[in-house]
Amino acid sequence: MTKNVAIVGAGFSGAVIAHQLAKAGYQVEVFESRSHIAGNCHSERDAETNVLVHVYGPHIFHTDNERVWKFVNEFSQFMPYVNRVKAITNNRVFTLPINLLTINQFFDKTFRPAEAQEFLASLGDKTIENPVTFEDQALRFVGRELYEAFFKTYTVKQWGLQPTELPASILKRLPVRFNYDDNYFSHKYQGMPKDGYTAIVEKILDVPGITVHLNTAFNPDQKGDYDHVFYSGPIDAWFGHREGRLPYRTLDFEVHRDKGDYQGNAVINYCDNAQRYTRITEHKHFSPWEQHEGTVCYFEYSRQCEEKDTPYYPIRLARDKVQLEKYVRLANEEPNVTFIGRLGTYRYLDMDVTIDEALRTADKFLECASDKAQM
Ligand code: UDP
Repeated sequence: MTKNVAIVGAGFSGAVIAHQLAKAGYQVEVFESRSHIAGNCHSERDAETNVLVHVYGPHIFHTDNERVWKFVNEFSQFMPYVNRVKAITNNRVFTLPINLLTINQFFDKTFRPAEAQEFLASLGDKTIENPVTFEDQALRFVGRELYEAFFKTYTVKQWGLQPTELPASILKRLPVRFNYDDNYFSHKYQGMPKDGYTAIVEKILDVPGITVHLNTAFNPDQKGDYDHVFYSGPIDAWFGHREGRLPYRTLDFEVHRDKGDYQGNAVINYCDNAQRYTRITEHKHFSPWEQHEGTVCYFEYSRQCEEKDTPYYPIRLARDKVQLEKYVRLANEEPNVTFIGRLGTYRYLDMDVTIDEALRTADKFLECASDKAQM
């Protein structure tokens, strides 16, 4: 008898699991409450300019994971793309992540790598042995001046919290380099899907046995209709928020259309308080192989996520740990339901990690199913 599986959410997590299970012979129904697939990676062409836009903000694919890279390349050509972010602070433009050019320009020096490393070490607060907070991590490794110029205000704008309240892990996402490499990421593979992320997810879902229902919410009461449910919605929503709402940041985008080149780069961060927005994304620069007369920019504003909003960043503060643990316990006890992805596990995940976890989740599920069949 064919087994039926429901997958809630058509982002990378849900689509990858749907793909793997359908290929193994399962009948998979995907329920997506929005009007489109691909979750927050969704990209579409702007009606006025035809520029491919990352509707929920910038997504750059980068990974060291061979399996993930091979997997995504089955569904799209990846165009060479290196993310080189600029940052404006105190009316000056710098390159990020902090690299030798940033350090030399900021301090008006001509250091070579070893000199810069020594200089930054002299600025770092060595009394902080084990950085726990975002601020500790910054003060320990780059010192107060760079911290205040690039991280402190941006982080308050982004998270609505002081860096003393946030975990060091958020800043650990960014490297500090003592050479002139201004590639924002350190991974071996990096690129942009030629036709956008939604086109990839569409292909991932294009397997016999998968049915996608758009604009269709899934009610936990329906789970009895399926042998198994993979749920990539917010973990607290599945349990009716019975332990309270887990906090998220959401983003608002002010759209600016123009002609030509508005800012000369895909992403420019605004690290001080001169503007309320955190960054401006000019989407056409993500597809440099395309030619467009017009341009579309998103001015990005971060704020507390309300019930009606799209959740983006899980806040995961140490003080909310107890609440999260309660949900994780409930999730572990929920029979025939697997919680997956950024919202289902309430973690700040990059796309490659999401795909890797989805592939492993599918492997494990299929292995268990075949073990059971042999018993
Ligand atoms: N960050 C910052 N200044 C910047 C860029 C990043 O302070 O110019 C901090 C900020 O707290 C941010 C974190 O570093 O949330 C991680 O940055 P990343 O660029 O990875 O954020 P994402 O693109 O995922 O929003």
